[in-house]
Amino acid sequence: MNQIQLTVHRGTHEVGGTCIEVQCGSSRIILDVGLPLFNEDREAFDSSQLRRMTKDELRTNGILPNVSGLFADGSPPDAILLSHAHMDHTGLLGYSQETIPVYTSSGTSKMMLAGGVFAAQISLPKERFQEMKPEVPITIGELTITGFPVDHSIYGCLAFLIEAGGKSILYTGDLRLHGRKPGMNRSLLEVLKQKKIDALLMEGTHFGFPDGNHLNEYELEEEITKQIQQSESLVLASFSPQHVDRLVAFIRATKKTGRTFVADPYTAFILHLLQNEVKLPQPEANGLIQVYVPKAYENSSHAGREKIIKKFQHARIEMETIQKNPEKYIMIFRDSMLGDFNNEFPSKTSCLYSRWNGYLDQPGWKTVIEKLNLTDGNLSDVHTSGHILSQDIVSFVKEINPETIIPVHTFEPEQFQQHFENVTLINDGETWTIS
Ligand SMILES: [Zn+2]
Repeated sequence: MNQIQLTVHRGTHEVGGTCIEVQCGSSRIILDVGLPLFNEDREAFDSSQLRRMTKDELRTNGILPNVSGLFADGSPPDAILLSHAHMDHTGLLGYSQETIPVYTSSGTSKMMLAGGVFAAQISLPKERFQEMKPEVPITIGELTITGFPVDHSIYGCLAFLIEAGGKSILYTGDLRLHGRKPGMNRSLLEVLKQKKIDALLMEGTHFGFPDGNHLNEYELEEEITKQIQQSESLVLASFSPQHVDRLVAFIRATKKTGRTFVADPYTAFILHLLQNEVKLPQPEANGLIQVYVPKAYENSSHAGREKIIKKFQHARIEMETIQKNPEKYIMIFRDSMLGDFNNEFPSKTSCLYSRWNGYLDQPGWKTVIEKLNLTDGNLSDVHTSGHILSQDIVSFVKEINPETIIPVHTFEPEQFQQHFENVTLINDGETWTIS
């Protein structure tokens, strides 16, 4: 019987840039093809700079992992599987050979579509997309793969169970236990109770990165609601609309406080894409959700812009209306929208910042904070991590009880050894055989 060979090309000692190769006999698949987030000094990469590089420049700079046939000519792998649509898992897809099919959830394909249209992210060409349905195994040569929905900070995430040659691997992708749907992870654990996992490729973002607060998504929704209740003026909300659970929290808080939620076209488009799968209201004239079109978008050359603006025309709201009664609205905001307010926010505007706080050190956000202060406003950090908290890593791994743990997506894989005896530490590009 053929053995499974595993090569983690990137991510054994870093967060981001995930790319894992799994081979059994002549069958070979790639799990995620991500852009790195950090350089060797753990400083955040300028991702727009990375995205402007040619394939050759990416290769010379060591950004493209050296995987046989994935990016260059030669015999291509049988498939690429994407765990979720974050760029540190998908960003190199556009450089891969176009003949390789891409397996992922329908949710991930939708998030990639929206990210491609609105946020200069990688989209997934229709002709390459092969849908993976939750908990329905697929066969690729000698490998059987099952996708399990897991909770993370973007819609549509999967963990992958890979079985071949009598052995099994579980790749967690990115996940957490403190989201709106911890039951997703429970159903994964229920299935795994019946199976012996030989190797667990476990994300360990919070070994090496502080957990932040320990709020779960429901507690965060309460915090958001409280902050809106305390505000007597406009509330701005800054978060990724692909993080649909966070979107749900903001919309529910809007409803509870009797305000109107002002979406941008990106958010409205996501609501539209998910209308048959997520119970959320759609934008409507004078409804709970209305749509403001930022000047930068209106004047941009984004693909399909006119069509999208037309689609939400009936629910459109203008800046004048918002400024007349700012206390009636919660408005999606990004730092590029400062000009929409002519550089002056309504008096006492609060901004609920619900993203990674590293972005606050960048010039755009620094200016926003200065302008908020000028009119007696404020910015508050209302966020909880998309990744499994350090204490939850320990309980989750214990429940799976794998033969061996291979840490990925972590700066400090050694921390796993403080909790478990059966940790296999490997380096980027090293091949490990499951015996
Ligand atoms: Zn992620």
